[in-house]
Order: sequence, then C-alpha cells, then structure tokens
Amino acid sequence: MLLIPALRSGLRPLVALGHSSFSTLTTSAAAVEAERTTRDGPRNDWSRDEIKSIYDSPILDLLFHGAQVHRHYHKFREVQQCTLLSIKTGGCSEDCSYCPQSSRYDTGLKAQKLMGKDPVMEAARKAKDAGSTRFCMGAAWRDTIGRKTNFNQILEYVKEIRTMGMEVCCTLGMIEKQQAEELKKAGLTAYNHNLDTSREYYPNIITTRSYDERLETLQHVREAGISVCSGGIIGLGEAEADRVGLLHTLATLPVHPESVPINALVAVKGTPLQDQKPVEIWEMIRMIASSRIIMPKAMVRLSAGRIRFSMPEQALCFMAGANSIFTGEKLLTTANNDYDADQLMFKILGLTPKAPSFSEAGTGTSVEPERWEAAVSL
Ligand code: SF4
Repeated sequence: MLLIPALRSGLRPLVALGHSSFSTLTTSAAAVEAERTTRDGPRNDWSRDEIKSIYDSPILDLLFHGAQVHRHYHKFREVQQCTLLSIKTGGCSEDCSYCPQSSRYDTGLKAQKLMGKDPVMEAARKAKDAGSTRFCMGAAWRDTIGRKTNFNQILEYVKEIRTMGMEVCCTLGMIEKQQAEELKKAGLTAYNHNLDTSREYYPNIITTRSYDERLETLQHVREAGISVCSGGIIGLGEAEADRVGLLHTLATLPVHPESVPINALVAVKGTPLQDQKPVEIWEMIRMIASSRIIMPKAMVRLSAGRIRFSMPEQALCFMAGANSIFTGEKLLTTANNDYDADQLMFKILGLTPKAPSFSEAGTGTSVEPERWEAAVSL
C-alpha cells in the first residue's frame, strides 16, 4: 500500500491507494475517487467537498478518470438510444423558468390535449425501428391528481409499449405513491423527475413546487420499485457550487438514480431564461465525468442541448462517461439532432446501440421509508 499526500483542498490529508490498475498515480481527486470507486464500488456518503474536489479536478484528468470508471462498470462502446415524445404539450400551470410549456410565458407554443393511442403507438414503433430501446412519454402537468381518465389512458400506453420489447419511461410531473404503484403494475421501467439544480438555487428557477416535493416523488417512484431517472440542467445562471450541490443530492440518495440526464439549457425565446449564455462543452464534460465517478452504475444521459455540440465534442462526452442519448426529431418541444447525423456518428465513433434492459427496474424496492427520509432530510 502506498500513501500519498492529497494536494487539493477538500481531500483527506493522506490518501491510501492500493494496487492500482492505473499506470500513473496522480493526486487529483478524480484520480483518487475513480480508483476507489473501481476498487470498493459505489458509495452514498459523499460530502459536498469531496464532490467539489472531483468536479474541480483538471479537466483532462477528470475526463480520463471518468473514462476509467466508465470502462470498469459499462461496455464503453454501448450507447442507449432513447426517444422522448411529448404526449401532452403546453399549458402547464408551473413556472419553471426554462420551460416553453409553462402557460405563464409567451413562447408561441400551442397547448394540446393528451395524444390518442394510435399516434403514440405509431411514434413508439417508429422509434423502435430507428433503434431506440427506451420510449419516454412526457406530459406538461404539475401532477396527475384529478386526471384519472388521462392517467388510465397512459397506463394503457405503458402496457402496450412494453409488449413491443422496449423500456418505457414517463415524466408526468409529481406523482403520489398509489400512482407510482399503478405505473409499476402497468410495466413502467423508469420514471423521470429531474431535480434541475441545487436545493439553494432552485427557488430562482421554480416557485410553484418545492425541492422537497420533487424528492417526495422520487421516493414514491423508488418505493414502488420503478427505476429512478433524475438529473438536472446546467446553464440556468447557477454557480458551479450549485452544480456540485445537485450532484451531491443525487449521489447521496439511498440508492443512486439508475439514470442521470445531464441537460444543457436550450434557451427559448419568451421564457425568463431566454438570454442565458450557452453552456460550453467543458462544462458538460465536467458534469458527465463527475457523475460517472460518483454514480458509477448509472446511465448518464447526454440530453437536451446536444444539438449544439459537434461530433468530436459529443465523442468527448461519451469518453467522459455518457452512455445514452435522445434520438428523434424533437426533445419534447425543442429541436433534436438529425437521425442520419446520429447514425453517422455511431458509425464513425464505433458506438453500438445498447439493448433494452428490464433487470434495472425494481432495484429500489429495498429502500425503507426511514432510510430514504434520513438521507434526504425531508
Ligand atoms: S418543466 Fe414540466 S412542470 Fe415545469 S413548466 Fe415545463 S412542463 Fe410544466
């Protein structure tokens, strides 16, 4: 065993390294924690300072060690293609500052009713034919309370899409315990509910529901045995400390989310965030590689904002640990990457489409309510 001094603040004064598979020992937090993660497995007791030290590691070192962890836990060439369809667009009562679907902002988006079964199934079949293995349905609602008819309709969609052999995900706003159980019974693989940003910055972005309400929905999803999909958005005007705060909340949940979408804001005219500066690729890489190191088993999804990144830039994201993208013409209401360009990217980068996985659903069933509540301090 070799003892090396830690050079960065936030690290323990001495760090013990066992026999390392890495050819070069460095003292960046990314190097130390990547080595520990591959040796000891995932952990949920991260401190903010530890995550900050990883996040602040020199970018190439962070990228390299994100890649190390990625290769240890995943088939590094595999990238899952998911399709996200907005099944109920616009007219949402919430005030999420980034969202063109909020009825509070004049974005020119026309509110629509829940899509009927035929067009949804057609979209799912089309997505499957195009290589998607996860089909996500999004509805612009605060929650599903008082929407029994629509909710039952969605349960039917979930059941039918599962028979196509695809993973099925929904993002319908806040859900109660019983609704989570019904979705589970219908065969839902995953439920998406992003935390968006840190607890501290959150009130600057949304005022119509609290951070704790978001966490409560994640708890209901987890307790129902549905796989949790939860990540955030960068480029909202938050500080780096808020990005670290978001990662800290996700990585200290009793069980890490099985899926962590990392979104770059797509600033839409008419929303309060319309003039935000676009996120740079280095910021995405920091988020992706940090997520990969601290939540090594999660699917890290390179999500909204991908359209702005070139193929080499996206390649760096895959190298850092991203292993999923959203394909299809639109990502809810904003433009997404072109299908042919994505196919060409898979070919050039030697990526292989990931097959659907149904074993990940249900991994959260063992979290007792007390353990969850202690972890998130609801
Ligand atoms: S992000 Fe979701 S909850 Fe927020 S305004 Fe948009 S559709 Fe509504």
